[in-house]
Amino acid sequence: MRIEENYSLLKHNTFGIEAKCRRFVEYETVEEAQQVAEMLTAEEPLLIVGEGSNLLLTADFQGTVVHSAIKGMETAKTAGGDVLLKAGSGETWDDVVACCVENGWQGAENLSLIPGEVGASAVQNIGAYGAEVKDLITVVEAVEIATGRVCVFDNEACAYGYRDSKFKHEWRNRYLMTYVTYRLKTTKAPLNVAYGNIRAELDKQGIAEPTLKQLREVIIAIRQEKLPDPKVEGNAGSFFMNPVVGRDVFEALQQQYPSMPHYYIDEAHEKVPAGWLIDQCGWKGRTVGRAGVHAKQALVLVNRGGATGQEVVNLCDAICRDVMTKFGICIKPEVNII
Ligand SMILES: Cc1cc2nc3c(=O)[nH]c(=O)nc-3n(C[C@H](O)[C@H](O)[C@H](O)COP(=O)(O)OP(=O)(O)OC[C@H]3O[C@@H](n4cnc5c(N)ncnc54)[C@H](O)[C@@H]3O)c2cc1C
Repeated sequence: MRIEENYSLLKHNTFGIEAKCRRFVEYETVEEAQQVAEMLTAEEPLLIVGEGSNLLLTADFQGTVVHSAIKGMETAKTAGGDVLLKAGSGETWDDVVACCVENGWQGAENLSLIPGEVGASAVQNIGAYGAEVKDLITVVEAVEIATGRVCVFDNEACAYGYRDSKFKHEWRNRYLMTYVTYRLKTTKAPLNVAYGNIRAELDKQGIAEPTLKQLREVIIAIRQEKLPDPKVEGNAGSFFMNPVVGRDVFEALQQQYPSMPHYYIDEAHEKVPAGWLIDQCGWKGRTVGRAGVHAKQALVLVNRGGATGQEVVNLCDAICRDVMTKFGICIKPEVNII
């Protein structure tokens, strides 16, 4: 087990914010996760991190930061021929996708290049291009912090929703993830190419029926073109959640802005893309101090270099105020602000 005191979290957040924590602890095995659980007290502030790609640090953390370094992937076959891939919570998510694609196991390819680790994938229910990891997860294994008990959850127990799970709410800070098992197909089913501009990109390359590898490459290329690379410009992907508004509010807005994009939720609600709202307020590409709004995607806030977490929060507040003034809609951060 690795234990550090007064430790810099610069390498543990993709926003590239310099902040320290009082203590940093990393577990490499289930037994070490149990020892970590024993070290933690209910009074001490706790932050569990993966790669920190959904995290904004606004100050030094006066408590313990815990990180999983459990590595390894092993596979088994189901009677029906599917592959069950069990990965350590500290594995990089995209390495799992790469492994699946290389072996011809289908299901994870649309989730290519999403930053972060395996443990967080099961907390966040990561999703992209019409796919969600909840549709692959069969089992989540974790150590309960209060008791040190090893717990095994099936998919249903995690109560997955859109970018959501029980681990984000009533189970927040209750478990240290150890392993996640994903179920992949070995039979060739039609690939999901309908979402976003995947089809257009494939057409451009003259590919009618892509292989898993070709689909992964196209998705990686689209993502690299659209999103800033955190290694070059710090960011945490989509900073804001897309707001869901009541039908009356939506209809009034639609009259005023007929081109406003929207997604049907149910009879009473409609979802509006936060990126569109922010763009309409003139924020796309703008910089305030050392924080800014990405030029190609208004949903992404970036660290232009040396920004503090507070500078990013100030920018976030200014954007939220403008969206509220112009549209009467409250947008909220998706990123975990600490
Ligand atoms: C450029 C960019 C693009 C992105 N694109 C997407 C996208 O397309 N789709 C998408 O869904 N997300 C996207 N994200 C967001 C981010 O990649 C995901 O939320 C990812 O799952 C976070 O993983 P992480 O390891 O960095 O977790 P962190 O941000 O460190 O943590 C996320 C949550 O998981 C918990 N957690 C992490 N590890 C453990 C563990 N071992 N045990 C218990 N709890 C744990 C944390 O406490 C926290 O609640 C993007 C981010 C960036 C920077």
